[in-house]
Amino acid sequence: MTTLHRHLILLLASLPAATLCGALLGGSNGALTALSLTLALWLIRHLIQIARLQHWLANPKLRHIPQSSGLWQDIYDTLLRQAKTRKKRKQKLTQTLQRFTRAAETLPDGIIILDPHKRIDWMNRLAADHLHLQDSDRGNILPNLVRHPEFHRLLQQPREHTHTLKLTLPHSKQPRRTLQLILTPFDENDQLLISQDISSAEQLDASRTAFVANVSHELRTPLTVINGFLETFADHPDLPAAQRREFTALMQQEGRRMLNLLNDLLTLARLEAPGSDSPAQPLNLSRLVETVAGEARNLSQNRHHIHTDIAPGLWINGYDSDLHSALGNLVSNAVRYTPAGGDIRIRLTHDNHAQQATFAVEDSGPGIAAEHLPHLTERFYRVDAGRSRNSGGTGLGLAISKHALARHHTRLEIDSRLHQGSTFSVRFATLIPPPDKPNT
Ligand code: ADP
Repeated sequence: MTTLHRHLILLLASLPAATLCGALLGGSNGALTALSLTLALWLIRHLIQIARLQHWLANPKLRHIPQSSGLWQDIYDTLLRQAKTRKKRKQKLTQTLQRFTRAAETLPDGIIILDPHKRIDWMNRLAADHLHLQDSDRGNILPNLVRHPEFHRLLQQPREHTHTLKLTLPHSKQPRRTLQLILTPFDENDQLLISQDISSAEQLDASRTAFVANVSHELRTPLTVINGFLETFADHPDLPAAQRREFTALMQQEGRRMLNLLNDLLTLARLEAPGSDSPAQPLNLSRLVETVAGEARNLSQNRHHIHTDIAPGLWINGYDSDLHSALGNLVSNAVRYTPAGGDIRIRLTHDNHAQQATFAVEDSGPGIAAEHLPHLTERFYRVDAGRSRNSGGTGLGLAISKHALARHHTRLEIDSRLHQGSTFSVRFATLIPPPDKPNT
């Protein structure tokens, strides 16, 4: 039997009982009065409960739900159960929404949801950053916020299809920022605008194109020279022996230049290839610098005053042939760019306190103007292209040094002033004790 049934039975039972009591006390009038009073009491009780229920429904806080008995308690219990279920569902929905918002914030792309009037319905932080928008711009019309003719044209495209646009915008932290924008239909009437920062991919593409153009240019010059001589040989089989020798020597020189270039390109490619790191080995830095100084003397052929000051017995963990290239390029540049009679100082000093060593090569050559210094380690960057080529340079030496030094967790410092010579130096931050049985 339900509470409602019990309630009805109680009501039906109480009415005749009240009527009977009333009749016994006051005849038919008494019976009527008792019946009316009983009904009025029932009515008042229910009205009070309805008022409490209405009051609670206006502000349905779980802990303030009214308490009663019988039928009304059953109603309140049911309402409480429903309210608890609703609260749990709401909490779950909120959590899911928060998770999605967090996921959207961690996406590597910017996302904006646009309503049919191109108002910003929602956007993540990256989209705001890409298009220079503020949080307060939500709800505003996007074309009014990003004033760019191409961008406006994109937003005017038919809503039913996906459209893309590559857009370059100025940016505070980067010189320029290139965005790939994708506008696609979303839900019934909305659109999704996805923005991707493709600046670095664009830069990479541009530098790859420039690199291929540079290599082709570098190879074309010697090949043109060699072809020219070969044609001369073919057209003039009776060329005098002296001229033949001279042309052959020039062809050999151009051939060597190409070989140097290819060797440097291979070295660079190896140094730039990711994940090719074998473990570093203990390396006798002092001995390496002695070797490099010997090579400088060889290259100079007594045309320069070469002074050395090399602290003995200094060891680091490193890669012998890479470091040899890095330091070798620095001393060979000093010899190649310093006019005959100039001074070249090669030093390896030891800072006892910090267990550090500094390699430096100083020359009294032409020096380098300040505007060139930040670019010297770029591939094929030359201050004076003619002088570099005449001295057998490939334009890759300092780029190789930079990459090779990066493998040793250090970098090249350049101190140079026009007409005042140059100093190229490298600091090795971690010396190691000499191994028991040195094998280098
Ligand atoms: P290159 O093969 O042309 O020497 P590098 O990358 O070794 O290429 O050097 C880049 C440029 O830096 C050179 O072309 C040259 O103009 C300049 N440079 C390098 N070292 C010196 C130096 N010791 N004195 C003057 N200029 C130098």
